[in-house]
Amino acid sequence: MIESGAPPVEGAAAESEEDSEEIELEEAQAQAEAMLDAEARGTGTVDARAEVRAPAATAGYTQRSQRQRSGYDRPGYDRRGGGRRGGGGRRFRRQSAPVPLISDLLKEGQEILVQIAKEPIGKKGARITSHIALPGRFLVYMPTVNHTGVSRKIASEEERQRLKRIILSERENGHGGFIVRTAAQSASEDELRADIRFLKGLWQDIKNRAESSKPPALIYHDLNVVERVLRDQVTSDFNVIWVDTEPEYERILRFFNRFQPNMVKRVKLYTKETPLFEQFGLQEEMNKALKSKVWLKSGGYIVINQTEALVAIDINTGKYVGKTARLEDTIVKTNVDAIKEIVRQIRLRDLGGIIIIDFIDMDERRNRQRVMQALEEELRHDRAPSKTLQFNDFGLVAITRKRVKQSLERTIGAPCPYCESTGYVKSVTTVCNEIYVEMRKIAKHLEHEDVMLRVHPDVAKELKSNNGRLLNEMEELTKRTIIVKSDPAVHQQQFDIN
Ligand SMILES: [Zn+2]
Repeated sequence: MIESGAPPVEGAAAESEEDSEEIELEEAQAQAEAMLDAEARGTGTVDARAEVRAPAATAGYTQRSQRQRSGYDRPGYDRRGGGRRGGGGRRFRRQSAPVPLISDLLKEGQEILVQIAKEPIGKKGARITSHIALPGRFLVYMPTVNHTGVSRKIASEEERQRLKRIILSERENGHGGFIVRTAAQSASEDELRADIRFLKGLWQDIKNRAESSKPPALIYHDLNVVERVLRDQVTSDFNVIWVDTEPEYERILRFFNRFQPNMVKRVKLYTKETPLFEQFGLQEEMNKALKSKVWLKSGGYIVINQTEALVAIDINTGKYVGKTARLEDTIVKTNVDAIKEIVRQIRLRDLGGIIIIDFIDMDERRNRQRVMQALEEELRHDRAPSKTLQFNDFGLVAITRKRVKQSLERTIGAPCPYCESTGYVKSVTTVCNEIYVEMRKIAKHLEHEDVMLRVHPDVAKELKSNNGRLLNEMEELTKRTIIVKSDPAVHQQQFDIN
């Protein structure tokens, strides 16, 4: 959460376990909006603020939304979904005053500069705002407001005052707001000043580009994925950073020179012939992260199933069979072993919402408690906030986990066109039966002497198995010769009779 001069924010006590850029950005923007909201109410003016949640299909860039007014004229569109942090106060104020219509705030053809505040997730469209927030390493810069806040996760009052003092001393003419990110804790004065200069320079660039561009145009794109990882994940604990292309290597050096000069000498150019991802086993990990079955070192395995409503994770002892005196021990061990891998997979795949884990049944109560404790302990290392609930004695545990992005599966995959994402196709036996039924239906209407049946190769094989028993039956039924044409281009579920 962020400290502010604005009215107290409802739900201000809400947890913020995550030092993620998205959430800090979102908070900064919410703060900016709350500030301007309050200002507007004080002076009776309404700033040209535009905030719309576009349907997912039009979530690309923003000016498009002006043309599709009909959808946004409804006041409901100006409200954001629940569950946001820091937005509660605004929501409260919104109820007490009418929300202006988007058509009163924007005119067709008007040029506006907006930022995508939140990427579309699932069916929810992107959220855009005219309150630009630019994240740096230690600060979020908000050029459209005058407001300085410090992340509430920085607890020491002394440190907060120090940070505020530095920021305020850099604010010439009192223009522009800053939110001090959690990462700023114990950052040196020079580092903070460098960040401020960088952000102000960046904003100047953006303004220049906006003035010289013809809308709709992309003015600025946030740091790329490499730079974001460097900025937010890399600490001095990292010994080497391998890069396999020279241009990227140069970019990383430039980046570190600007943000973390002490890291520059740890960046190494990778020149071996073996692809980088292969060398460090990343490709294999990514492939594994898309499979539903994940093996455990102990010989057991977990199965992860993502559905629309929830994620189900099942644990199996695998090769272990038989009931001995030590069965309970094996089960407890498998459950505990699985926990580490489950939490790792949850993070790798960025699984969110409701996650149900089906642990193997344990007879003893204290073992169940042990497993629950191990799970809670492991989840503590996960940066995304989650809650755990054991809801019965048979080993079912529910986790609710907040996530910021799409899951890995949705990010690097697409729905399977073959099975239409059901995970199943009709078996060859079923398809053969359907062919039989269809033949019986059309037997009387067949025009040619021969019948041409075009099917998937597996279906063809099945039709000809058992000395072509099925085929013979169909020939008797239709009193025609059936020519089976095996065609790999035919979907296994489809067939074509001619
Ligand atoms: Zn499929």
